Amino acid sequence: MTAKIIDGKEFAANVRAQVATHVVRLKEEHGITPGLAVILVGEDPASEVYVRNKGKQTVEVGMHSVEHKLDADTTEEALLALIDQLNTDPAIHGILCQLPLPKHLNEELVINSIVPEKDVDGFHISNVGMLSTGQKSMVPCTPLGCLMMLRDHHGSLSGLNAVVVGRSNIVGKPMANLLLRDSCTVTIAHSRTKNIEELCRGADIVVAAVGRPEMITGDWIGKGATVIDVGINRIPHPEKEGKHKLVGDVHFASASQVAGAITPVPGGVGPMTIACLLANTVTACCRINGLAEPEGLTA
Ligand code: NDP
Repeated sequence: MTAKIIDGKEFAANVRAQVATHVVRLKEEHGITPGLAVILVGEDPASEVYVRNKGKQTVEVGMHSVEHKLDADTTEEALLALIDQLNTDPAIHGILCQLPLPKHLNEELVINSIVPEKDVDGFHISNVGMLSTGQKSMVPCTPLGCLMMLRDHHGSLSGLNAVVVGRSNIVGKPMANLLLRDSCTVTIAHSRTKNIEELCRGADIVVAAVGRPEMITGDWIGKGATVIDVGINRIPHPEKEGKHKLVGDVHFASASQVAGAITPVPGGVGPMTIACLLANTVTACCRINGLAEPEGLTA
């Protein structure tokens, strides 16, 4: 069997096109332009690339984009004051503080100081609580992207057995909650899990969010299962000396021989993350203004 490749690039382009349509509607019918503010503290090169891409794509879908670059030694007080100002700014509907933050800043405190309705990353404790109790919330972007692709591939997820490998707050746990909400039977596996290969083999859906290059091989995957590979790992290129390549947490060559459908790395989950950030900003804008939410862009 050779798996169907779930094309995240194409899927993300489609999500962005839907977002752009809603942005036009909000502007024309209500005179509102959704606005996203991204805060970057310090000069982490990877974070700078992410923030640049976020800003570029925000503008491409017609939204208002604001970037706040703060020095690495910014005080907590100054950062909280900026968040306070954005919390009450009527032109801003989404606020994202790029993680990780420099060590002297308390990440939990900073994230929880963003008002939950503008928390487009879905990391505020209120949003985490609402997601886990099945209430309407802002949903973390990467798991939301995975859910969209799974719903598109399967239609209904009800009754399917899903194994989520990884229990982080930003991917594993919210992913498990979303799948549970769609009535999957969910197992969360982690570094202490026994018989992990066997658990994965029995699953209709495997979501890999581990951060270990190509750990999940084809013999872990049940015939015809759907594999969503969240992992992004930079490894030395096997053929080009001094170069690197990106691989997922799944060994694509072997897993794609067994799976029914699989996301590649790169070009799978990765492009969906920013697309879902834009979708969340439009959703936040609609909710803040008491307008109907865009269908298909929320969980
Ligand atoms: P974390 O390091 O926060 O969590 C990794 C999880 O994997 C932990 O729960 C850990 O278990 C588990 N784990 C580690 N080793 C094993 C093992 N041998 N067997 C089973 N479980 C194991 O990572 P993140 O959730 O932040 O990210 C996971 C991956 O996804 C990374 O590659 C990251 O780069 C990528 N990522 C991609 C995004 C995208 O946009 N596509 C966005 C975010 C992340 P334990 O809790 O027991 O330690």
